[in-house]
Amino acid sequence: MSKGLLLVVSAPSAGGKGTILKELLRTEDSLRMSVSATTRQPRPGEEHGKQYYFISREEFQTQAAQGMMLEYAEYVGNCYGTPRGPVDQWREEGLDVVLEIEVQGGAQVKKLAPDCVTVFITPPSMAVLEQRLRDRGTEDEAAIQNRLETALVELGHAQEYDYIVVNDRLEDAVEDMRAILRSEKRKYERNADFIRKVITHAETIR
Ligand code: 5GP
Repeated sequence: MSKGLLLVVSAPSAGGKGTILKELLRTEDSLRMSVSATTRQPRPGEEHGKQYYFISREEFQTQAAQGMMLEYAEYVGNCYGTPRGPVDQWREEGLDVVLEIEVQGGAQVKKLAPDCVTVFITPPSMAVLEQRLRDRGTEDEAAIQNRLETALVELGHAQEYDYIVVNDRLEDAVEDMRAILRSEKRKYERNADFIRKVITHAETIR
């Protein structure tokens, strides 16, 4: 059995990646979502172990120092990291794993695991992003401006990603993600073992 795919997805906040990934996970049986650790406070409705593992900064530093994080980064004053264990285990079992992480973490993973597949989800325009942030109604004016500035910086990193998905219509974006996943899984290097097995079997029955 070949090792599962490692999919890295980044997007500016309010870029809609959460909704896209939720929809993708609903239909892709072999896809698992990594649950990150963070030092930020849970938002209303968030549960430990579900959206994140909410841990102290001290605990985060200990885990990072012990090599328990596949990657980690600081983002607007909080630490975020991917626990290595579940990712390795799922991939060994042949399951695909998606990491929903910001751009610094994305760059670390690409360096560490060059065979990963990276996708940058972008809003169709900054105006749409601004509108989505305002519609969400969770941030004040200063925070909105701050997020828009951050989004521009993040867009500058889009060039480091393998694929760009524009989040205009949700169904189209999800379909693009599915297409990327399917094509990547059909690449020769991910199927070399299978081809070898077919050849070996053919030789044994000749
Ligand atoms: P939020 O606090 O809004 O949930 O997430 C803030 C940012 O941190 C988002 O861009 C999200 O993708 C990113 N993030 C979440 N988990 C991780 C992680 O494990 N590693 C890194 N590098 N970024 C993460």
